[in-house]
Amino acid sequence: VLSFTPLDDIDIRIKRSKEYFNLKQQQLALENKSLKYEIRDRQNLLKRLYFAIKDNEELIILAMEKDFNRSRQETISLEFVKLLNDILHIIESLPKWMSNKKVNDWSPVGMFGNIQIQNIALGTVLIIAPFNFPLLLALLPVVYAISGGNSVILKPSELTPNTANIIERIVEQSQLPSGLVQIIQGGAVENTKLINSGEFDKIFYTGSPRVGAIVAEAAAKSLTPCVLELGGKSPTFFTQNLNRSHWETALKRIFFGSFANSGQICVRPDYLLVHSSIYKDVVKLATQLLHEMFPLIDSQTEFTHLINDDSYKRTTIKLKTTNSNIIQAKIDESSLQGLNLVPPTLLIDCDWDDSFMKEENFAPILPIIKYDNLDKTIDKIMTFHDTPLAEYIFSDNSTEINHILTRLRAGDCMVGDTIIHVGVPDTPFGGIGTSGYGNYGGNYGFSAFTHERTVFKQPYWMDLALSMRYPPYSITKRQL
Ligand code: NAD
Repeated sequence: VLSFTPLDDIDIRIKRSKEYFNLKQQQLALENKSLKYEIRDRQNLLKRLYFAIKDNEELIILAMEKDFNRSRQETISLEFVKLLNDILHIIESLPKWMSNKKVNDWSPVGMFGNIQIQNIALGTVLIIAPFNFPLLLALLPVVYAISGGNSVILKPSELTPNTANIIERIVEQSQLPSGLVQIIQGGAVENTKLINSGEFDKIFYTGSPRVGAIVAEAAAKSLTPCVLELGGKSPTFFTQNLNRSHWETALKRIFFGSFANSGQICVRPDYLLVHSSIYKDVVKLATQLLHEMFPLIDSQTEFTHLINDDSYKRTTIKLKTTNSNIIQAKIDESSLQGLNLVPPTLLIDCDWDDSFMKEENFAPILPIIKYDNLDKTIDKIMTFHDTPLAEYIFSDNSTEINHILTRLRAGDCMVGDTIIHVGVPDTPFGGIGTSGYGNYGGNYGFSAFTHERTVFKQPYWMDLALSMRYPPYSITKRQL
């Protein structure tokens, strides 16, 4: 059971967070600490978090199992390992990221000055996490925030209470300085209080576009900058120019991205667009592979469930009303009674006006749409879903690939694979338009939680050359 943070405590914790940041800066100034010291200090904080996460591996896996029957394999490979690897990468990269960058200016203004760009901490930041990767998407932004020198308030998702409790345990076990990372447990009510406090220097929100708009509106009142990591319907092209020898691998990669975590992935291939000339054959192979990859699902199968009854009901009602032909992995129905489990499902001959084509599905349902004309299809995507978080292209024709890339904007793109681009270090991960703004990932994550400050130290004797700027102005001065 998750005990929500009392509303009165929220103000106290925000105050403590801000005090921690100010005292830390004061201490650094008073003791005249070097940048090297600060780098080592932040690396040590990150190491403590790293080991606390590592030590809790089994508890993390069990917590997610309790929360939504999260498959052990997915927790380890998609969340746990990525989080630990990213922390190591950050620890290793910090000296480079934190070093001041010298700027040379050969104009009279700066040629004798000392000009540097420093990456300074933003201050106190708020991180709001979603349910679908409840550990990674809560703690990874926290790690970046610490790497940037900030103090943090974290609100994990209330939909995954066991994981939220483990996160609290991990933070406690890390023995971070008191006030550096504080956790607020709760849902919309607690979050509403946080986002309307006007006390944060940045809000880093991951979740649905609907709530993203609420967060941005609240933040705007106090001019608080945000990063919004949202979702969307990410299209996947399977064109007639994909070599047949690639079909099977392509479909397996699409199924992996679309059905892992029971389809609850922000960058999942949300629907598949198959050219009409190959549609029948692709559907035949897809059906065969579906049954091979998911032979028979029963209550013991390692398959993640939908997060709650609402999500289950929403999906099953739509399945009852769709006009598409449904092909599902086989299930042992009697053993699945009462579980929020929907088996991997293909929707054949799906139309653009199908109920599964209205909003992000966030379930293991893959509509397969037949298309004839690429440009008209891109027009449709832009009309219906504007700018998704990802786009996927399976084609072996580079002109065609470039055509899609040029016309269709998306947060990220993969050609020949799905979703694993989020694991590549030092690449920006974030949306465009309706899928959000701002990004993180390696040095981009460090940048998301720091401010680049130009510090220009000018020698006083430079007025020999620069005194013409002072009034009184005159023609003679301008001609100099
Ligand atoms: P959500 O928007 O329902 O919840 C996210 C957070 O907002 C939670 O902490 C929740 O407590 C809080 N919240 C919910 N309602 C609120 C309200 N009315 N006012 C203030 N706060 C509120 O999202 P979710 O269902 O947990 O996650 C799924 C969504 O997140 C999907 O749309 C998915 O695409 C997106 N997502 C995006 C990324 C990304 O990196 N871009 C990653 C994962 C998930």
